[in-house]
Amino acid sequence: MRIRTEQLAGGELTLKFEKRPDTFPLLAEMVTSGTCEFPAPIKAALRAQQIGDIVEIEGNILTAARLECGRCLQSFEMPLESQFALTYSQVDPALEQSASNDEEIELTAEDMGLIHYQGEEINLEREIQEQVILALPLKALCKPDCKGLCPRCGADLNTAACDCDRSPSGGKFEALKNLKLVKN
Ligand SMILES: [Zn+2]
Ligand SMILES: [Zn+2]
Repeated sequence: MRIRTEQLAGGELTLKFEKRPDTFPLLAEMVTSGTCEFPAPIKAALRAQQIGDIVEIEGNILTAARLECGRCLQSFEMPLESQFALTYSQVDPALEQSASNDEEIELTAEDMGLIHYQGEEINLEREIQEQVILALPLKALCKPDCKGLCPRCGADLNTAACDCDRSPSGGKFEALKNLKLVKN
């Protein structure tokens, strides 16, 4: 996922990419560690515009994730979609070298939301990967009202009912009684 600035030639360009998720290092790592799976290719549609040393990129990504529900532990698939706008600014490699020792300059550029690129090429891999991760839900649920598993017998309460007493007070009381016994 690269854009060569000569393609832009100071103007505008629309681009479409399609890439396998496992070619992105962080996404491949998430699959290896079992965090989630990415069963669909990552599709990106981008519009890039060059204004002087600045390249503005607007776009969206579309893919899918297979996650484990945090309540019922069932695996489920969900679409991932994200829209974003990025601003790239070209830096002279020599300038970048001298500025890298000065964290303040680096921070200022980041604060302004600018992403540096060198030479004639913008590599979007890191930012596209970041967008996929940002599109993942903070709490994975197979559906918003997932009933989860019974804490006593482990039954999936979405598909089966059980006769367990799941009132939370009972459990706490039991725990307190045990504590007293230990002290005596
Ligand atoms: Zn669930
Ligand atoms: Zn139960």
